[in-house]
Amino acid sequence: MRFEHLIVGGSAGAVSAVEAIRSVDKGASIAVVYDEEVPGYSRPLIPHFLAGELGLDGMMFRSMEFWSKNRVRLIHDAVVEVDPDDRVVKLAGGGRLEYGRMLLAIGGEPITPELEGIDREELYTFTTLEDAERISTRLSEAHRVAVIGGGFIGISLAEALTKRGKKVILIELKPRVLSQALDERASRILEGKMAKAGVEVLTGRAVAAVHREGGRTLRLELDNGEKRLSDLLVAAIGVKPKVHLAEEAGIAVNSGITVDEAMRTSIPEIYACGDVAEVYDFAHGLHRPLALWPVARGSGKIAGYNMAGLEALYEGATAMNAMNYFNAPIITAGLVNPKSPHLVLSRLDERGGSYSRIVLKDGLIVGFTLLGEVEQAGLLLYLMRRRIDVRRFKGKLLHPQFGLSALPQKVRREVLWK
Ligand SMILES: Cc1cc2nc3c(=O)[nH]c(=O)nc-3n(C[C@H](O)[C@H](O)[C@H](O)COP(=O)(O)OP(=O)(O)OC[C@H]3O[C@@H](n4cnc5c(N)ncnc54)[C@H](O)[C@@H]3O)c2cc1C
Repeated sequence: MRFEHLIVGGSAGAVSAVEAIRSVDKGASIAVVYDEEVPGYSRPLIPHFLAGELGLDGMMFRSMEFWSKNRVRLIHDAVVEVDPDDRVVKLAGGGRLEYGRMLLAIGGEPITPELEGIDREELYTFTTLEDAERISTRLSEAHRVAVIGGGFIGISLAEALTKRGKKVILIELKPRVLSQALDERASRILEGKMAKAGVEVLTGRAVAAVHREGGRTLRLELDNGEKRLSDLLVAAIGVKPKVHLAEEAGIAVNSGITVDEAMRTSIPEIYACGDVAEVYDFAHGLHRPLALWPVARGSGKIAGYNMAGLEALYEGATAMNAMNYFNAPIITAGLVNPKSPHLVLSRLDERGGSYSRIVLKDGLIVGFTLLGEVEQAGLLLYLMRRRIDVRRFKGKLLHPQFGLSALPQKVRREVLWK
């Protein structure tokens, strides 16, 4: 079988590419190969599914009708090999598909720690709907759950488990949670909220060994000699781009698949987008994978346009996270923990429970963190992305009422017109 457009994936990047291709070309043949239970569900909602707040219907950001309406041939299988010379892929089920253009929207895979004393299948991960279902099934008899990793996934998992009434121990190797996305003060505020919700947060510690305690209970031995019992162990130490298919096909790969601004790989008829690809991070000034839903949607759309023959360029993105874990709304973007000298402005309102921090370099905003009060995030992001010199009004940036009216007229006009 041959398709003009073959998309491997079935999640954020794949959906955006389908929409973009169809907006340009109503007649081209499109196939999507996906290997999960269902395509088109929202991965960021997995914690809400596990918490019991959403069923499968509520998770779907595109219904099954979406694929038929767009005349997409859905193929439930996994691509195991790409042959760019013959423009053919091989499927795990034994089939072969030919393509004119192909998009790799295959995301990332969880990183798992090497742990002595535990079989691979007893160490759970939390990146797919199936993972959430497997964990959920175990919760009827697991009361103490240990989560390894205090990044976004680990914290969202800890919150979901707390909502299910479980006793959660969170073990983080770094001295504080979310150390990549938050500065120290914001991390501590969040840790305080987690502790208040009943989570035991152990930072600066790692699991050194795992022992069986009887039944399915595990005794975790930490690197400082402390011990904890847990009925279920989940590793949430991050995801890495799933690059092996591309590597084996001879496509250029760095830490993710390398692409140009059209999301084209080193092989012109093969594109890549989303978590598996490297994109331009405008705050850091370099190309790197940015595992974020809006980046997958944006880069998938650009890939789709170009596959359909409409020239479009992806302008880049930056690490931007909006979260609300343990009743702490947080928005963070760009450079949060700069290594070289930067000007840092911050304001802590302990009574009101809010904290704001803005990182400046040569008069430009290069990063910010808002905790508690997050309304100003849109405007700050705009000033950051457009590289607007804020020196003239930097004294107002942290004011609780900072808004359009605080901007010099010229800047305000620009914001309003763009
Ligand atoms: C628990 C969790 C919470 C998150 N929360 C947020 C959030 O709040 N905000 C945010 O911005 N981002 C969040 N993310 C990240 C976000 O979900 C990803 O950035 C986004 O899903 C990436 O989309 P993608 O299409 O690139 O890849 P993915 O969503 O990873 O989808 C890739 C798909 O391709 C399939 N696939 C892989 N290999 C093959 C193959 N060989 N053949 C066929 N199919 C294959 C995979 O099984 C998968 O279904 C979260 C992620 C997780 C895990």
